Amino acid sequence: MVHEADVVILGAGAAGLAAAERLMGKGLRVIVLEARDRVGGRVATLRDTVADAPLELGAEFVHGKPAALLRRIRRAGLTVSPCNDTHALLWRGKLDGGEESFAFQEPLRSAKAPDRPMAEWVAEQARLHQWPPVVSAMARSYVRGFYAADPDVASTLAISRMERTAEASGGTTPSRVLEGYDRVLHAMAAKLFAKPGTLFLNAVADEVRWKPGSVRVRAQTRQGTPLGTFQGGHAVVTLPVGVLQAKPLAPCASCRACVRRSAHGTGWRWAPW
Ligand SMILES: Cc1cc2nc3c(=O)[nH]c(=O)nc-3n(C[C@H](O)[C@H](O)[C@H](O)COP(=O)(O)OP(=O)(O)OC[C@H]3O[C@@H](n4cnc5c(N)ncnc54)[C@H](O)[C@@H]3O)c2cc1C
Repeated sequence: MVHEADVVILGAGAAGLAAAERLMGKGLRVIVLEARDRVGGRVATLRDTVADAPLELGAEFVHGKPAALLRRIRRAGLTVSPCNDTHALLWRGKLDGGEESFAFQEPLRSAKAPDRPMAEWVAEQARLHQWPPVVSAMARSYVRGFYAADPDVASTLAISRMERTAEASGGTTPSRVLEGYDRVLHAMAAKLFAKPGTLFLNAVADEVRWKPGSVRVRAQTRQGTPLGTFQGGHAVVTLPVGVLQAKPLAPCASCRACVRRSAHGTGWRWAPW
């Protein structure tokens, strides 16, 4: 079966839903293919039935004051509440306030070329400013924890730019969406839910064939049932880099009939039409 739209969007996380919303707002027909049984991607909220509290498994905080996101949250009738942004640090067996350990942040925002890995920059700045060891340790930990990057390879200039961008939109002071972050994503998906044939859940895209002006995407359910072909003039691909780097599904070595699946249940193939 062939499904047609102006734009085929891969992934119904924040990026895919934002693209769908904007394109539908311009009167374009979209189809969104999402591998999971839910929208939201890395925004995933569980609700504790006893305490009735939302538990965030993925994104939890609104950092700073990003105007577009805050507008979206208010439009959806949701509540943003600032968190207590004080830090406590367990350092060498002693629990203390951790504020001074963030002394690296200001120099980081004004880091200059040439670029070098963060670990190198930290060592150099520690010598220059005579940082106590806790500041260097926190700087490396911040790169790992906040940016999910390895300080031995992460670009200092890229992280410096992201810090400046965060500062320009109100810093990284966190707030929470009290009703749960997933409610923001559900509001973004409302028009898709309301229009049959636009959102396909349990639809794993595993092949994109394209030529200028035409895209054909093949998808199947996670259980392997083919869903046919999704065809459009354009595609918006919002899949995580790890998925895009995954190897195409390989025929199973023992029976050659089924396909062996990667940990994410998906493989990937780009090909000319
Ligand atoms: C634990 C954790 C905590 C975080 N905390 C914060 C925070 O506090 N604040 C913040 O701003 N950000 C936070 N983030 C980052 C934030 O969640 C992500 O940046 C954002 O959700 C990414 O959205 P996306 O649409 O780009 O990608 P994703 O949300 O990953 O969306 C991609 C979608 O593609 C789908 N998909 C994958 N493969 C296929 C396929 N083959 N076919 C079809 N669909 C497919 C996936 O199921 C997914 O729904 C956190 C992330 C994690 C993991």
